[in-house]
Amino acid sequence: MTSDNKDRLGSKLHDVEAAREDQWARQRDADLLEKMRERMSKTACPHCKQFLVAKSEAGVPLHVCPAGHGAWIDAPALKAVLKEQK
Ligand SMILES: [Zn+2]
Repeated sequence: MTSDNKDRLGSKLHDVEAAREDQWARQRDADLLEKMRERMSKTACPHCKQFLVAKSEAGVPLHVCPAGHGAWIDAPALKAVLKEQK
């Protein structure tokens, strides 16, 4: 193998690693979202005891009572929204 070939192989390996990291980050985000959905889908509205429905309003993840009693927002998402308003 010439040294030129070796370099090319090296950069290809680097690309594969970067792609793997991307994949990992996406998977982690999906896992977090899935966990949040799962947790909140077992949460019932304190008024009517119906399970909350996961929704996204203007990019903000919300859990809404299907009967319209209210919406719940995760603390980190709330912080992000309040920060944006400043
Ligand atoms: Zn309700």
